[in-house]
Formats: sequence, structure tokens, C-alpha cells
Amino acid sequence: MRYISTRGQSAPQSFCDILLGGLAPDGGLYLPERYPQISRAELDAWRTLSYAELAFAILSKFIDDIPAADLKAICDKTYTAEVYGYVRDGAKASDITPVHWLEPGKLGLLELSNGPTLAFKDMAMQLLGNLFEYVLDKRGEQINILGATSGDTGSAAEYAMRGKHGVRVFMLSPHGRMSAFQRAQMYSLQDDNIFNIAVRGMFDDAQDVVKAVSNDHAYKAKYKIGAVNSINWGRVAAQVVYYFKGYFAGTGSNDEKLDFVVPSGNFGNICAGHIARQMGLPVGRLILATNENDVLDEFFRTGVYRPRNTAETHATSSPSMDISKASNFERFVFDLVGRDGAKVRELWSKVDAGGAFDLSGSAEFAGIGQYGFTSGSSNHADRLATIRRADTDYATVVDTHTADGLKVALEQRDPTVTTLVLETAQPAKFEETIVEALGRKPARPAGLENIEALPQRVEVMDVDADAIKALIARVVDAG
Ligand SMILES: *Cc1c(COP(=O)(O)O)cnc(C)c1O
Repeated sequence: MRYISTRGQSAPQSFCDILLGGLAPDGGLYLPERYPQISRAELDAWRTLSYAELAFAILSKFIDDIPAADLKAICDKTYTAEVYGYVRDGAKASDITPVHWLEPGKLGLLELSNGPTLAFKDMAMQLLGNLFEYVLDKRGEQINILGATSGDTGSAAEYAMRGKHGVRVFMLSPHGRMSAFQRAQMYSLQDDNIFNIAVRGMFDDAQDVVKAVSNDHAYKAKYKIGAVNSINWGRVAAQVVYYFKGYFAGTGSNDEKLDFVVPSGNFGNICAGHIARQMGLPVGRLILATNENDVLDEFFRTGVYRPRNTAETHATSSPSMDISKASNFERFVFDLVGRDGAKVRELWSKVDAGGAFDLSGSAEFAGIGQYGFTSGSSNHADRLATIRRADTDYATVVDTHTADGLKVALEQRDPTVTTLVLETAQPAKFEETIVEALGRKPARPAGLENIEALPQRVEVMDVDADAIKALIARVVDAG
């Protein structure tokens, strides 16, 4: 399988060649040159596979430059009950992504947040950690991952890369801005290859430091600076697996359709759903849910894609969906315009210049129905009401992001089709809003009750790219 760029001007690459990189040289995102088609016989055979077996079956379709036995071993090591053990009472950790039914057979949560950091990003990031280690070992190379986080991504990256050879993680976070739980999760890691740096500033300041370091090309090359952002193709590919698993768990046979509802920000999660559907999984609708940052809902309703600027981006109580532009959206638009790289270049020349594009009158947008998308949005009041409703009607506490999905699900579901809402985080991660909604704290998964009391390891620094470069250089030069 070769990977091509959405902007059509980069040479095709193999999976391992794009694994450690980010954007294609022409500024586009990588996608497989075609989507593997899954036959009915394969679907029937896959229905009873374990998560790790299914991951291997699906990833083998996308990865042909890792020997099968090695890829199988990586999947087996990644998707275990030990790694994804924070399940709700009664669920089996060995299912990795169990369904928690709200209305049996009709409406359920697909639990994707049972991994070490209690958010769905662990589903892909844990695989990425093992793939990185494998490829770096093979090539005798190293990588120093530099990132900025306001919460979920940074901790998922650290838990995935901890203790891995060839990889160091330098993660910047805004000093004093994350919740006590999030700080404890990240800063309590004692692994030698994990470096937490709290900068005296906001998330945007931390992000600016990362950009400044990455723009110093000589430094970046010398110190092998890399990233694990949401456009990484390996992350998207890993996420395709749970759409299949969820479909099998939610239906009785491969003749049925199933609708997925996806709380969305950067369009990474739902992009994997789109790919699963293009591969032939019998998905009915992909229902996209946003919070107050509704740039994607606006597109699916109107055909206008208008990324926001920082001032127009709301800080909400579902913070992991607070995005101004959806970095993975370009992948879907590439398919929508018939995989025409020139057309994508034309559209993104407007986006990259800070503008918008409008497909509303186009033949492409007129044909969007074939992709199965619908959309809706939620706000703080909806979120609180939905958290209360789930508690009252279903005796289930949902996190704030999942609540955005459930709100849209309850509005748009088709009573004749099974609907699964992707549970993207556990409520324990967003305690404050749960207390605001329910007047009580959500239960913490066993083992995490006293995480705030663990010793923490973090360096507090000024917002100063040169000082951070010097720190990385010191660590790397010392070996
Ligand atoms: C990252 C994240 C999302 C948004 O996912 P995208 O892939 O960016 O669309 C939703 N919920 C939670 C809890 C997240 O961490």
C-alpha cells in the first residue's frame, strides 16, 4: 500500500516512511492511494475476532512494510486488558472497547476511554508508541517528540512513549492551568525518557514555543525533533479498528446498519469512521457532534468551511473539542472532490491564507449524501442537561465531550437503527463540570483515587524558546 498526499504533489510513500513524519512535503496530508475493500466473507469471519486480532486483520490492509509476524506481535502487545483496564463496573476489560447500553440494542456508548489516560486518544497512541519503537530500533534511529498540550493529547503521548527505546518526549503545558487530576496524570510519570515542562504562560504560548523550535530547521534536524499530532496517519489507521469492533458489538449480523455519533474537534476520530465506511463496513450515518466551536457542523449544514481565529474560538467545558480549524478535515474533502489534489490545493490556498471556502453550489456538495454524514452542535447548557438526563434516565455518568455526542444522538437518532455514541473520555477527567451538573463528583476508576498525592516531576520555565532548546540539547547531548 502506497500513501499519497491530498495536495497531489508529493511522491507516494510507504507506511513506515510516513509514520514518523507529519505533513507531506507539499503541505498535504497522507492517505492510502485507495481504500482496501472488505468482502462479505471477511466481515463474517471478523465478527468474532478479539480486538487485537481484528486490529491485525485491518492494519495488515494498510501496512505492507512490516513483516506480518511482527505486526501481529505489536497488535497483541498493544491491545490488552492490562492497558485498557479502566472499564465501567460489569464490563470486560478484555473487550478493550465494550458497549455500555443505555437502551439495550438501541442506544449505547462505545467505550473508547478505558486506557491509561481515560480518553480515546490512548486507542491509537498506544499503538503508535509500539510502532515507533519498532521502526526506530530497526533503523537504529532516535526521535525527540516535542509537543504542547492543554490536557488529553500530551498525557496520551507520554503514557504511550514512556520507557520506549529511541524516543524521548518533551511536553510543554501551561503552568497552573490544567486540572489537578490532569497535572497528576502527567507529572507523576518518573520515566527517564519523559520530560514535563510547565511554561509560565497559556497553552497558545506553549504552542508558539513548539512552532519556534520547529521553524529552526538546522536545530530540528540536529536534535531529531518530531511530533505526534492528530494528522499522523498511523493514529487515523488505528482508529478505524474500533468502528468495526463497535459495529460487530452493536449488531446481530452483517445485514444490519448501525449509526455512529462522534464528538468531534480535529476530525481525526470521525475521519476513521469515514474510512471504515468506505472500506465497506455497513455504517448508516456518521453523525458529527461539535460543541460551541461549530466550524464542522456549519460545513455539513451549509457547505461553507470557515476556520475561526483564536479570538473566535470559545473555551468550553468540553475543552478537547475547542478547535478553530479541523486539521484532518482535508482528508475528507480530498475524497469529496473526487481525489483531485489540484482542487484541494485551490481550496486550501484560501484556508491557509486565513480565509474560507464555499462548496454550497457545487456538484460535489450536492453529492455529499453518499458519505452518510449529518451533524449537530451542543453548548454548555445542553451539556449540563444531557449529563443530568443520562444520570436520571440511564443511571450513567457521561463526560462532557460524550455528552455533546449524546445530545445530538438523542435529537437525530432513527429509532429503527442501532445508534452508538463514541465515549471519548471518562467523567473523572472533567470533575468540575460533572459537579456543576450533578452536585457530586464522578467515581474515579480503581487505582486512580489518590493520584494527586504521588510525587511529581516537572520543570517550570519561562516562555522562552531558546531556553527550551538549550534544555533539549543538554538532555540529548548527554545521551
Ligand atoms: C481529542 C478529543 C476529541 C475530539 O477528537 P477529534 O479526533 O479531534 O475530532 C473529543 N473528545 C475528547 C475527550 C478528546 O480528547
